[in-house]
Amino acid sequence: MDSIATITLLIIASHFCGGIQFQDDPVIERFRDYLKIDTAHPNPASKYLPGIEWINNQSVDIGLDFTLHTLQFLPEQPPYHDGYALWLTWPGRNPALKSILINTHMDVVAVDESKWDQDHPPFEAVMDANGDIYARGAIDMKSATAGALEALRILKAEGFEPLRTIHLTIMPDEEVGGHHGMEPFVNSEHFERLNVGVDIDECEINAGNVLLISTAEKAIWQFNITANGTAAHASTLPEDTAAGKLQFAINKLLQYRTEQLDEVNTNPNVTVADVTTINLVQMGGGLGDNIIPDLLWASFDMRILIKPDWNFGHVDNFLNGIIAEAGVDLKWIQRSEHDGVTPTDGNVWWDEIMRACDQLNLTCNSQVISGATDGRYVRSKGIPVFGIHPFLNTEKRAHQHNEKINAVEYLAGIPRFTQIIRNVASLPEDENIDY
Ligand SMILES: [Zn+2]
Repeated sequence: MDSIATITLLIIASHFCGGIQFQDDPVIERFRDYLKIDTAHPNPASKYLPGIEWINNQSVDIGLDFTLHTLQFLPEQPPYHDGYALWLTWPGRNPALKSILINTHMDVVAVDESKWDQDHPPFEAVMDANGDIYARGAIDMKSATAGALEALRILKAEGFEPLRTIHLTIMPDEEVGGHHGMEPFVNSEHFERLNVGVDIDECEINAGNVLLISTAEKAIWQFNITANGTAAHASTLPEDTAAGKLQFAINKLLQYRTEQLDEVNTNPNVTVADVTTINLVQMGGGLGDNIIPDLLWASFDMRILIKPDWNFGHVDNFLNGIIAEAGVDLKWIQRSEHDGVTPTDGNVWWDEIMRACDQLNLTCNSQVISGATDGRYVRSKGIPVFGIHPFLNTEKRAHQHNEKINAVEYLAGIPRFTQIIRNVASLPEDENIDY
């Protein structure tokens, strides 16, 4: 091959190489800069400072008010050690109206770097020739924070003046339950002052080309069942054993599990998201190989989907019936009291989001999210919560090795965020509507 042909081929190749095409795109650059900041568990709090500084720089650049409020930290630790609430604000033309909250989180789950491909470690945000950007947080959920910032940047550049105030929160510990972040924050006067009318919160990434918006989240109930019985030599057959009682309870609970699984397997319209799940997760007890134990225990994880005929009262009755019949004790490990559903019928915010989907020529459907997010704390305050991850056609690799998103999909998601924010922030006041 002569040299001119080689050069021509190189030019053609570089033109069609996604990664090279986006190499100098400032939107991609900003996203990758944020991804390079390691805020991974365990102990992301010791690493928050660079992340908070990056957010601060963005807020200055875009023209948003920056507020950092430490919620609690251990006295011997430097600031940012423990909980904080961080939010950026764009005041609306009528600040008395209910505001728009976009809620995201800065922490990302732990990495086992040895399991990541060597040419793209988790905190280098390497973009390959296809435009795939690899990093912990590329999906969950630095893409949402960076994407929302880009949407606000676009709206500012357009000269948009929101009627309602817009807040963007970047919380510290969603991945470990939000106990030092969103949970205390929603109960603080600071949150009350934000006067939130609707929360656009976290959602799973979309594997296909339909934007799935979560309107409900399952409630987590975790409990431990302890059975007491006669302790005896293992060569005997006493009537009243811990094993017998525990077996009865386990059988009943796993029978319910089988019924849910049958529903998923036989009804093509039902997925795991549409049923209550229950799993036996740990068991223990006993003193030795030749002793019938006087105590055995098992713990369960239950994710409850509220339905008309299946509310917390029904679940309590179901569990209490088994406990009484089996003669065992139940101790709570975790018990969410939030029903986790935002109704869409007659909800003006939902209507605005649906209108944005029409304007974007985008198919949008509601769904139940299978995991728990910080959005549950906001929903517990009676605020409508809609989980929106505006990026499509992306493999569900959150929490997995080699987490990635493609630059094309990242860029395509930003106008969706922009349109949704524009619509909800423009929703006029209506005295007849109870927001
Ligand atoms: Zn997340």
